[in-house]
Amino acid sequence: SNPLLEVKDLHVEFDTYDGTAQVINGIDLIVERGETVAIVGESGCGKSVTVKTILGLLPEADISQGEILYKGENLLELSDAKRHARRGKEMSMIMQNPMSAINPVFTVGEQMLDVLKWQGQHRVGITDWVRDKFRSEAELRERAIDMLEQVDISAPERVFESYPVELSGGMRQRVLIAIALLLEPDFLIADEPGTALDVTTEANILELLDDIVEEHDTSVLYITHDLGVAREISDQLNVMYAGEIVETAPTETLFEDPQHPYTRGLLESIPQLSRGIGAGIPGKLPDYTDPPTGCRFADRCPHAETECREVVPHLRRTEPEHAAACHLFEGDPHLDRHQDAVTE
Ligand code: SF4
Ligand code: MG
Repeated sequence: SNPLLEVKDLHVEFDTYDGTAQVINGIDLIVERGETVAIVGESGCGKSVTVKTILGLLPEADISQGEILYKGENLLELSDAKRHARRGKEMSMIMQNPMSAINPVFTVGEQMLDVLKWQGQHRVGITDWVRDKFRSEAELRERAIDMLEQVDISAPERVFESYPVELSGGMRQRVLIAIALLLEPDFLIADEPGTALDVTTEANILELLDDIVEEHDTSVLYITHDLGVAREISDQLNVMYAGEIVETAPTETLFEDPQHPYTRGLLESIPQLSRGIGAGIPGKLPDYTDPPTGCRFADRCPHAETECREVVPHLRRTEPEHAAACHLFEGDPHLDRHQDAVTE
C-alpha cells in the first residue's frame, strides 16, 4: 500500500527535573488515503504528544528514534521552514479548545482571508483557484463564506464579520473546522475537537466532520479519550497506553473482539466513563521517567505474570488485520522489527 502517513518506531523523550521521560515508546501508525484513524487512550497516555510530534509542534521534544513519513517523505529530515510549509497547507489541525486556537483580536473573516492569502499562495499542489494570487478580495470573501456555509453555519455573512468572543463554543468549533478546510488539506488532525462542547454539539460536529471527510476525501487522524466517539468516527482504531500502541484493528473488529487486557478494561468500564476513561481500571499510568522494564500495563493488569514484568510485549499480528502487544497472545510479528518479540 501507499499510505498517506506512516509513523515508524517513533520514540519521543522529554527532559524533566526527575530525569528523562520516555513518553512515546516506539509507536507505529499508518493512515491510508481517505481513511479516518483514531487513537484512543486516557489522559496522559501520549496521544497529544504523538500528533504534535507529527506536526512538529514540540520543539522541546527529543525524537530519539523513528521516522514520520508523509507521502513517503520523512518529515523529521525536513528543514523547519519546509516542515512549516507542510503544516497548515497540506496538513491542518483542529484543536481541542476552539477559543485558544482562534485569535480573539481579529474577526473570523479577517482570519480566513489571511489563511487564503498568505498560506494559499505558497501551497504546492493546491487547487489553482486558491493559488492564484490575483484573486480579488471579493472572490476570497465569497469562498470563505461558502466554507462557513459548508460547515452548516446558518448566517455565514454575519459570522464572517464577527469576533470569536461573539460566538458560542459550538460555532467557534465550526469556524475552526472551516478554517482548517479552507486550503483543502489532504490530512486533518483532530485533537478531541468535541471535548469542550456539550454532547449534542459534539455529536453535530462529528457528523459534520464525517460528511466533510467523505466529500473532500481527506484523511483524518482523530485523537480522543472517548471510545464511543472513536467508534462512530473511525475506520481503524489504535488503543494507546503509556506511550505505546497496545492494540490496533479495524474499528468494528476491535469492538467485537477486544484482545489486550487494557482494551478490555476500557470497554468493561464504559458505564463509569463519567469518571474519565481508564478510571474503571485500578491503578494509574506509570512514571515515564522510570517506566516498567517489561509490559507498561503490568501493574494494572489482572493477568500479569513474571514474564510480563521482564519482557516487553511487542505488537503481534493475532488475526490478519488485528494486532495486540501482550504476552497472552501468540502471533506473527506485526512488523519485521517486532521479530525479536516472537523469538524471545
Ligand atoms: Fe497483562 Fe502481561 Fe499482557 Fe501486559 S503482557 S497486558 S501484563 S498479560
Ligand atoms: Mg490531550
